[in-house]
Amino acid sequence: MSVTIHPDVDAGMTPAAADFDGGTLKCACSDPVKVEVSSQCAHNHICGCTQCWKPEGALFSEVAVVPADSVAVTHNADDLEVVAPSAVIKRHACRDCGVHMYGHIEDQNHPFYGLDFIHVERSEQNGWQPPQFAAFVSSIIEAGADPDDMEAVRTRLRNLDLPPYDALSPELMDMISAHKAKQAGVL
Ligand SMILES: [Zn+2]
Ligand SMILES: [Zn+2]
Repeated sequence: MSVTIHPDVDAGMTPAAADFDGGTLKCACSDPVKVEVSSQCAHNHICGCTQCWKPEGALFSEVAVVPADSVAVTHNADDLEVVAPSAVIKRHACRDCGVHMYGHIEDQNHPFYGLDFIHVERSEQNGWQPPQFAAFVSSIIEAGADPDDMEAVRTRLRNLDLPPYDALSPELMDMISAHKAKQAGVL
Protein backbone atom coordinates (compact mmCIF):
# COMPACT_ATOMS: atom_id res chain seq x y z
CA MET A 1 0.00 0.00 0.00
CA SER A 2 1.21 3.54 -0.61
CA VAL A 3 1.06 5.68 2.48
CA THR A 4 0.54 9.43 2.23
CA ILE A 5 1.78 11.35 5.26
CA HIS A 6 1.38 15.06 4.56
CA PRO A 7 1.58 17.05 1.29
CA ASP A 8 4.82 18.79 2.36
CA VAL A 9 6.72 15.53 2.81
CA ASP A 10 5.01 13.27 0.25
CA ALA A 11 6.30 15.47 -2.56
CA GLY A 12 9.87 15.37 -1.23
CA MET A 13 11.39 17.80 1.23
CA THR A 14 13.71 20.68 0.41
CA PRO A 15 16.52 21.67 2.77
CA ALA A 16 16.35 24.86 4.81
CA ALA A 17 17.64 27.94 3.00
CA ALA A 18 20.72 29.67 4.41
CA ASP A 19 19.96 32.98 6.15
CA PHE A 20 16.22 32.31 5.94
CA ASP A 21 14.41 34.66 8.30
CA GLY A 22 10.72 33.80 8.18
CA GLY A 23 7.65 34.62 6.15
CA THR A 24 3.94 35.35 6.21
CA LEU A 25 1.41 32.75 7.32
CA LYS A 26 -2.06 33.07 5.81
CA CYS A 27 -5.27 31.21 6.60
CA ALA A 28 -7.41 29.77 3.80
CA CYS A 29 -9.88 32.70 3.54
CA SER A 30 -9.91 35.01 0.49
CA ASP A 31 -9.25 37.94 2.85
CA PRO A 32 -6.95 35.95 5.13
CA VAL A 33 -5.66 36.38 8.63
CA LYS A 34 -1.96 37.17 8.23
CA VAL A 35 0.78 36.36 10.72
CA GLU A 36 4.31 37.65 10.17
CA VAL A 37 7.06 35.35 11.45
CA SER A 38 10.49 37.00 11.57
CA SER A 39 12.56 33.91 12.29
CA GLN A 40 13.53 30.52 10.88
CA CYS A 41 11.62 27.72 12.62
CA ALA A 42 13.11 24.95 14.77
CA HIS A 43 12.13 21.36 15.59
CA ASN A 44 9.81 21.23 12.59
CA HIS A 45 8.07 17.86 12.66
CA ILE A 46 5.20 15.75 11.51
CA CYS A 47 2.67 15.23 14.33
CA GLY A 48 0.05 12.52 14.70
CA CYS A 49 -1.82 14.00 17.66
CA THR A 50 -5.47 14.99 17.38
CA GLN A 51 -4.90 18.60 18.54
CA CYS A 52 -2.65 20.03 15.81
CA TRP A 53 -4.31 21.45 12.72
CA LYS A 54 -3.82 19.39 9.57
CA PRO A 55 -4.86 19.97 5.97
CA GLU A 56 -7.88 18.08 4.60
CA GLY A 57 -7.07 14.40 4.04
CA ALA A 58 -3.61 14.46 5.64
CA LEU A 59 -2.70 11.70 8.08
CA PHE A 60 -0.34 13.99 10.03
CA SER A 61 0.05 17.68 10.75
CA GLU A 62 3.28 19.58 10.21
CA VAL A 63 4.23 21.82 13.12
CA ALA A 64 7.33 23.76 14.20
CA VAL A 65 8.34 26.24 16.88
CA VAL A 66 9.66 29.79 16.64
CA PRO A 67 10.49 32.35 19.33
CA ALA A 68 7.16 33.81 20.49
CA ASP A 69 8.45 37.36 20.06
CA SER A 70 9.03 36.71 16.35
CA VAL A 71 5.29 36.15 15.77
CA ALA A 72 2.95 39.07 15.02
CA VAL A 73 -0.64 39.06 13.75
CA THR A 74 -0.76 41.77 11.08
CA HIS A 75 -4.17 41.36 9.40
CA ASN A 76 -7.68 40.30 10.49
CA ALA A 77 -6.67 39.57 14.08
CA ASP A 78 -10.37 39.82 14.99
CA ASP A 79 -11.03 36.58 13.09
CA LEU A 80 -8.88 34.56 15.50
CA GLU A 81 -10.26 32.51 18.36
CA VAL A 82 -8.62 30.05 20.76
CA VAL A 83 -9.70 26.53 19.79
CA ALA A 84 -9.60 24.90 23.26
CA PRO A 85 -9.12 27.58 25.95
CA SER A 86 -8.29 25.00 28.63
CA ALA A 87 -5.42 23.43 26.62
CA VAL A 88 -1.84 24.30 27.59
CA ILE A 89 -1.10 25.43 24.04
CA LYS A 90 -3.56 28.18 23.10
CA ARG A 91 -4.13 27.42 19.43
CA HIS A 92 -5.32 30.58 17.70
CA ALA A 93 -7.45 29.57 14.70
CA CYS A 94 -9.39 31.47 12.05
CA ARG A 95 -13.04 31.11 13.04
CA ASP A 96 -14.10 31.15 9.37
CA CYS A 97 -11.82 28.54 7.73
CA GLY A 98 -10.51 26.75 10.83
CA VAL A 99 -6.80 27.02 10.00
CA HIS A 100 -4.64 27.29 13.12
CA MET A 101 -2.37 30.35 12.80
CA TYR A 102 -0.21 30.01 15.90
CA GLY A 103 -0.16 28.19 19.23
CA HIS A 104 0.97 30.13 22.29
CA ILE A 105 1.91 29.00 25.80
CA GLU A 106 0.97 31.35 28.66
CA ASP A 107 2.28 29.19 31.52
CA GLN A 108 5.72 30.61 32.34
CA ASN A 109 6.72 27.32 34.00
CA HIS A 110 6.09 25.28 30.86
CA PRO A 111 9.26 23.81 29.26
CA PHE A 112 8.33 25.39 25.92
CA TYR A 113 7.35 28.80 27.33
CA GLY A 114 8.69 31.47 24.98
CA LEU A 115 8.08 29.35 21.88
CA ASP A 116 5.06 29.57 19.60
CA PHE A 117 3.86 26.72 17.37
CA ILE A 118 3.31 27.41 13.67
CA HIS A 119 2.43 25.57 10.46
CA VAL A 120 4.98 26.69 7.87
CA GLU A 121 2.86 25.25 5.03
CA ARG A 122 0.63 28.32 5.45
CA SER A 123 3.48 30.47 4.12
CA GLU A 124 4.35 30.94 0.44
CA GLN A 125 8.03 31.49 1.25
CA ASN A 126 10.44 28.62 0.62
CA GLY A 127 13.39 27.92 2.88
CA TRP A 128 11.83 26.85 6.17
CA GLN A 129 13.54 24.02 8.02
CA PRO A 130 11.89 20.83 6.72
CA PRO A 131 10.37 18.26 9.13
CA GLN A 132 13.00 16.42 11.21
CA PHE A 133 11.01 13.58 12.80
CA ALA A 134 7.48 12.26 13.38
CA ALA A 135 5.90 12.72 16.82
CA PHE A 136 2.94 10.99 18.48
CA VAL A 137 2.69 8.52 15.60
CA SER A 138 0.45 6.05 17.46
CA SER A 139 -2.08 8.85 18.04
CA ILE A 140 -3.25 8.78 14.41
CA ILE A 141 -5.27 5.73 15.47
CA GLU A 142 -7.33 8.07 17.68
CA ALA A 143 -8.21 10.02 14.52
CA GLY A 144 -9.36 6.88 12.71
CA ALA A 145 -6.23 5.30 11.21
CA ASP A 146 -6.38 1.50 11.04
CA PRO A 147 -4.04 -0.04 13.67
CA ASP A 148 -3.12 -2.70 11.08
CA ASP A 149 -1.60 0.04 8.87
CA MET A 150 0.84 1.30 11.52
CA GLU A 151 3.78 -0.82 10.42
CA ALA A 152 3.42 0.51 6.86
CA VAL A 153 3.12 4.08 8.19
CA ARG A 154 6.27 3.77 10.32
CA THR A 155 8.17 2.18 7.41
CA ARG A 156 7.15 5.05 5.14
CA LEU A 157 8.26 7.59 7.77
CA ARG A 158 11.66 5.90 8.13
CA ASN A 159 12.06 5.90 4.35
CA LEU A 160 11.40 9.66 4.40
CA ASP A 161 14.13 10.13 7.05
CA LEU A 162 11.46 11.05 9.60
CA PRO A 163 12.21 8.79 12.62
CA PRO A 164 8.84 7.80 14.12
CA TYR A 165 8.31 8.40 17.87
CA ASP A 166 5.23 7.92 20.01
CA ALA A 167 6.02 11.03 22.06
CA LEU A 168 8.23 13.93 20.96
CA SER A 169 11.79 13.33 19.74
CA PRO A 170 14.34 12.16 22.35
CA GLU A 171 15.98 15.61 22.15
CA LEU A 172 12.75 17.37 23.09
CA MET A 173 11.80 14.78 25.72
CA ASP A 174 15.24 15.37 27.30
CA MET A 175 14.60 19.13 27.26
CA ILE A 176 11.27 18.62 29.07
CA SER A 177 12.80 16.30 31.67
CA ALA A 178 15.76 18.63 32.26
CA HIS A 179 13.33 21.52 32.76
CA LYS A 180 11.35 19.47 35.31
CA ALA A 181 14.52 18.35 37.05
CA LYS A 182 15.71 21.95 37.40
CA GLN A 183 12.32 23.03 38.76
CA ALA A 184 12.49 20.20 41.29
CA GLY A 185 16.07 21.06 42.26
CA VAL A 186 17.38 17.70 41.07
CA LEU A 187 19.63 19.31 38.44
ZN1 LIG B 1 -9.57 31.94 7.51
ZN1 LIG C 1 0.33 17.57 17.44
